[in-house]
Amino acid sequence: MKPDIRSCTYDELAGWITSIGEKPYRAGQIFGWLHAKKVPDIESMTDISKDLRRKIADQWMIHEVTPVKVLVSKADGTRKYLHKLSDGNIIETVLLKYDYGNSVCISSQVGCRMGCRFCASTIDGLVRGLLPGEMAAQVYSVEKDIGERVSHIVVMGSGEPLDNYDNFTDFLDIITDSRGADISGRNITASTCGIVPKIRELADRKYTLTLALSLHAVTDGKRRQIMPIAAKYPLDEVLSACRYYRDVTGRRITLEYSLIDGFNDGDEDARGLIRIAGGLGAHVNLIPVNPIEERKYRATSGKTAFALKNKLEKNRINVTIRREMGRDISGACGQLRRSFISDDGSGDHNV
Ligand code: SAH
Repeated sequence: MKPDIRSCTYDELAGWITSIGEKPYRAGQIFGWLHAKKVPDIESMTDISKDLRRKIADQWMIHEVTPVKVLVSKADGTRKYLHKLSDGNIIETVLLKYDYGNSVCISSQVGCRMGCRFCASTIDGLVRGLLPGEMAAQVYSVEKDIGERVSHIVVMGSGEPLDNYDNFTDFLDIITDSRGADISGRNITASTCGIVPKIRELADRKYTLTLALSLHAVTDGKRRQIMPIAAKYPLDEVLSACRYYRDVTGRRITLEYSLIDGFNDGDEDARGLIRIAGGLGAHVNLIPVNPIEERKYRATSGKTAFALKNKLEKNRINVTIRREMGRDISGACGQLRRSFISDDGSGDHNV
């Protein structure tokens, strides 16, 4: 398979264009076709000569991200997409409609190797990291489907973005480029299970994106029970990397905390969460765990979740309980893909 031209940053494209003896401004034209006009093929670049289009197609292709199934929530307009990639792999993308705009939750890898016990994406391990262009094209595919612009991106689908670091940062360079999709870094949130050296590297890149840390437990002992990565990077190192990220970028950290009944929703946990979030000045996002078939975890009751929220607020912690969206169209992260792969893609929502 030829390499994906949509995965080139502007500078990479400019480098290639001049290397074949073309004028540098051609790079701007091509980049604009790919990421501003968002065309699906090289043939559509009509202000580029046939000859140059042929030269491009000799060396490059556009790796496809094609919707094979779209589920639409009757409750809130959430749309869940199964996207097929050029090599036949399937990934999930979700559109969430908010008052402030359209937000798309993208995947960063096919599968995942982080092994979090409550997560469906990791059950079969990592297949491969997504290319920068495959991350961007998930957004373009949704825009095409709904005929509206996407203003916000959350990298919270399948995969660990910081385990696919170079492709992820190239994606950030591409999607925030004002000559292309021009999505502000401030409107992008990326979630990580806590890969310490990469959090620090990302901070030094000075993107304006929001970093969300999947905390889920407030002691190393407990965290290790549900997140294997916690054995590699202890909490004090993770939190110190988050402080560094906050100090260098000036952006507030978000802590994600999936509430598991009887495991991490007690008084001790609340105290730990107040201490950690208070110390970091972080926003806390409480997520009642989405039970997955393969595991035994149950979600904390609404009542306990609200009590915890109140406790945090009394301690001046900024906290939200994640609104469940699109509940009627499938369960937790990665479940849709798993059920699609195992039932061979048949179903009545095919597009
Ligand atoms: N690898 C990144 C992105 C993963 S998905 C990370 O670990 O942060 C985004 C969030 O959803 C993470 O906080 C993840 O821990 C959480 N998550 C995964 N499965 C879940 C489930 N079944 N219920 C609730 N939250 C879940």
